[in-house]
Amino acid sequence: MSSFRSAFFFKSVASLADAPASAGEIAFAGRSNTGKSSAINALTGSQLAFVSKTPGRTRLINYYALGTEQFIVDLPGYGYARVPDATRAPWERLLGGYLQTRAPLCGLALVMDVRHPLTELDQRMLGWFYPTGKPVHVLLTKADKLSREAAQKILRRVEAEVAALAPNTSVQLFSSLKKSGLEQAAAVFRAWLEASAPRSVGVAPGGEPNMKTPGKTGGGEIKAPGPKGEISPGQNALRFKASRSGRRSGRRPKSPRASESSRGKRFPWRIF
Ligand code: GDP
Repeated sequence: MSSFRSAFFFKSVASLADAPASAGEIAFAGRSNTGKSSAINALTGSQLAFVSKTPGRTRLINYYALGTEQFIVDLPGYGYARVPDATRAPWERLLGGYLQTRAPLCGLALVMDVRHPLTELDQRMLGWFYPTGKPVHVLLTKADKLSREAAQKILRRVEAEVAALAPNTSVQLFSSLKKSGLEQAAAVFRAWLEASAPRSVGVAPGGEPNMKTPGKTGGGEIKAPGPKGEISPGQNALRFKASRSGRRSGRRPKSPRASESSRGKRFPWRIF
């Protein structure tokens, strides 16, 4: 975990063009209040991610440097408050553009509260990100809030559901409070970063090109993610609305397959 423990705040960006040159980065996403900041802080052994909660930074993409041009990237939490379309649209463009086109992004850490896993927004995120071919690792946070047996049961259920929804997704229990699951998560993220070391174009677990470019990748680089998920810079990639019921934690759609329709389409939900 040493590389994570040396992390430091690098910069906040409001535009992909301002993203730093990067040899590999892992993005953290999740519904607001699921424990994303706490998870980043637990992994890095710092209070880094509370930077992202300071006024003015809440809708920016925050970069934490791991050294050697690798980064943890803290994306704003989704699915919490309602804001006007005019405020929301630019931010959704930024997030959607980042997730679908950022070449150095080697995988997504998706944070969910173990008591309310795989909300409709989470499922849409999984289905929408899947065509990039990049892996996802789900952190089921606040595992300390459940008994060991109850947490294990949810872990198995979520594993089964993501296997049907986005097969290149792994899942684990995590507790920032108890500091449990840290090594397991760090091992996954470390492996992603090592695999993303500047080399050649590879094939990600989803069977699609992982879009790694040889050598260092510049800050604003935009690459189409694949046959199903193309967007272009500036395109409003983020037009979608979750039903109000889907915005509530714990509400489940009829089937995890329900999200398949969102695969490869425009960024599929109302984030705030
Ligand atoms: P974020 O909005 O997703 O970044 O969530 P935060 O990291 O700010 O956490 C939201 C709330 O959940 C805070 O009150 C945290 O103290 C609490 N929390 C976060 N992680 C854990 C955890 O692992 N266990 C427990 N019991 N509480 C947690």
